[in-house]
Amino acid sequence: MKAAVFHAAHDIRVEDVPAPTSVGPRDVLVRPYWCGICGTDLHEYAMGPIVTPATPHPLNGSVIPQILGHEFSAEVVEIGTEVTSVKVGDRVTAMPLLFDNECYYCRRGLNHLCVKMACVGLSYAWGGIAEFAVLPDSILTVLPEGVTELQGALVEPAAVAAYGVDTGHVRPGDNVLITGAGPIGALATLYAASLGARVFVSELNPTRQELIRSLGVAEVLDPSQLDVAAYLKDLHEGIGVDAAIECSGNERALQTALASVRSAGRVVQTGLHTRPASIDPMVLSEHDITLAGTWCYPVTDFPRIVNLIAAGRYPVEKVVSAQIAMEDIVEKGFETLLSPTGDQVKVLVNARR
Ligand SMILES: [Zn+2]
Repeated sequence: MKAAVFHAAHDIRVEDVPAPTSVGPRDVLVRPYWCGICGTDLHEYAMGPIVTPATPHPLNGSVIPQILGHEFSAEVVEIGTEVTSVKVGDRVTAMPLLFDNECYYCRRGLNHLCVKMACVGLSYAWGGIAEFAVLPDSILTVLPEGVTELQGALVEPAAVAAYGVDTGHVRPGDNVLITGAGPIGALATLYAASLGARVFVSELNPTRQELIRSLGVAEVLDPSQLDVAAYLKDLHEGIGVDAAIECSGNERALQTALASVRSAGRVVQTGLHTRPASIDPMVLSEHDITLAGTWCYPVTDFPRIVNLIAAGRYPVEKVVSAQIAMEDIVEKGFETLLSPTGDQVKVLVNARR
């Protein structure tokens, strides 16, 4: 079968690999439709192996070369003898985190923090950018009629964004700042708006500013044109926003988020920083501010996200900037997304072309 395989930094190949030949009793054979390219995939391409295992993974023994793809929708083509949660022909999305179910965190229901965590498409035998994949039935959520295959491929990043906003305790009528309008920032914007918040988005890149305007649910603030924190305080009688969700992994953006929230507000770090950032912790003390981080999402959150999409409240497909064929994944996917002059936000790969 055809698959996009990570071998090493700057070496991702679309090549023929052996297709799965057996389906265990609790496993499901799927045929992916669409799969997103994630920031984690980009990091692997640029400087990996980081998350992909260079030595056998402690949970499942997987090792590079690795079939990529952990944000995907698929059709069920075969089920194991003990599977009852899905049937052949179902359209599904996969919650890609895999865990041992026995460590300190798993015993407390915090499976996304499992000490042996693995992930489909990063540290597992199969991935979503391939003609076929074998997955445990426990990670699948059926897509109801009205949720498209394209939307199904966006449930994973949509869950990341939702967890960030939820950790900010955002409520209807709240004022919320999102810093950074990449895929997660754009999805966080849609999600916060779906909760009934008034949303402001700080973003420098004109293409990404335009994407946020096109969503029609948020005000765009350009930090090169105005002092975002001062603007938000002026707008709210010197108070500031109730919560800020930092989605850029940028030091200045984190500082802006901390300067923009009201006393007893919450700042959530959802974007990944690649180097240390300097903040003034006195602000946290003086203003009773909570600074929280989020990692992935609760592993039980996918059915809720799918329901929100089905209800028309979370139009996740609006963040897609390109749909490409698998064979074009390096040139039109990775290279374009990493280009400093690139104008892509979210690229979805058709696993069947
Ligand atoms: Zn565990």
